[in-house]
Amino acid sequence: MTVKGRFAPTPSGRMHLGNLLSALLAWLDVRSVGGELVLRIEDLDTQRTSPDFAAQLMDDLRWLGLDWDEGGLEPEYMQSCRTAYYEDAFRALGERGLLYPCYCSRTERMAACAPHRDDGAVVYSGKCYHLTAAERQALEGQGRRPAWRVRCPDVTVALEDGNCGPYAENLAHDCGDFIVRRSDGVFAYQLAVVVDDALMGVNHVVRGRDLLCSAPRQAWLHEVLGYGPPRFFHTPLLLSPDGRRLAKRDRDLDMGALRERYTPQELTGLLAFYAGLMDRPEKVTAGELVRQFSWAKVPKNDVVVCIS
Ligand code: GLU
Repeated sequence: MTVKGRFAPTPSGRMHLGNLLSALLAWLDVRSVGGELVLRIEDLDTQRTSPDFAAQLMDDLRWLGLDWDEGGLEPEYMQSCRTAYYEDAFRALGERGLLYPCYCSRTERMAACAPHRDDGAVVYSGKCYHLTAAERQALEGQGRRPAWRVRCPDVTVALEDGNCGPYAENLAHDCGDFIVRRSDGVFAYQLAVVVDDALMGVNHVVRGRDLLCSAPRQAWLHEVLGYGPPRFFHTPLLLSPDGRRLAKRDRDLDMGALRERYTPQELTGLLAFYAGLMDRPEKVTAGELVRQFSWAKVPKNDVVVCIS
């Protein structure tokens, strides 16, 4: 079976070194086996994202020598234009009795949560699942608009991550009922990503390790919606020397600053070094890395970046 991967950035700012590492590894993962790559624009939240940022990140990827076979700024590959597909999946979940409205505000949500998970996320207690029809009606009468949650069963989803190894979560206890549609009607990442990966024929999902904890619920949604789950590969996160994760607001390590400072070959060498593909950062092109690429070389843990 042909490997079909994707890179799915959120165009909410300039990419940083960590985003580039995921992009390079997603690219190498498919190019090393003659597969195909989709570039999907994750602009569900139109308030926080813009086509200009998307155009910029496409230019940044090309500058680095990373190409893709389909996708980009075409409606079929932009989440903001794919609502009809999410509607269908949402309806299918509703028909299976898996959805319920949640009226909790952000503050109530935090209060209605069981202890925080290791990754800082919270497990929703299921408070609104237990509302009676009359209670729901009363809340609607007050003008409260609900978000929609999917009811998670008490099952453990175990998966074998292609980079990090075995990973398992009990959906009810470790994850909790999660939001698939926000109260403003916008579909949530967790639903959109599953629908898109399935409908785009993606079978390899390569992305940052911060999303490893999303993989079990996504694998489960794939099953519930009748799709075959993809294989997951979670890449190391890059940390600054003080232990913080790099973020888009770290302007000194965003693509604007990096392009002024490095040539594409120098930057690729630096990424290859962080990815465990080279012993030291030396000039290299993405194409030259294809033959020596192997997931066995890629670190399983976060990597501290020491460039000032
Ligand atoms: N859009 C997400 C991001 O930019 C990535 C989602 C994914 O790869 O599943 O962080």
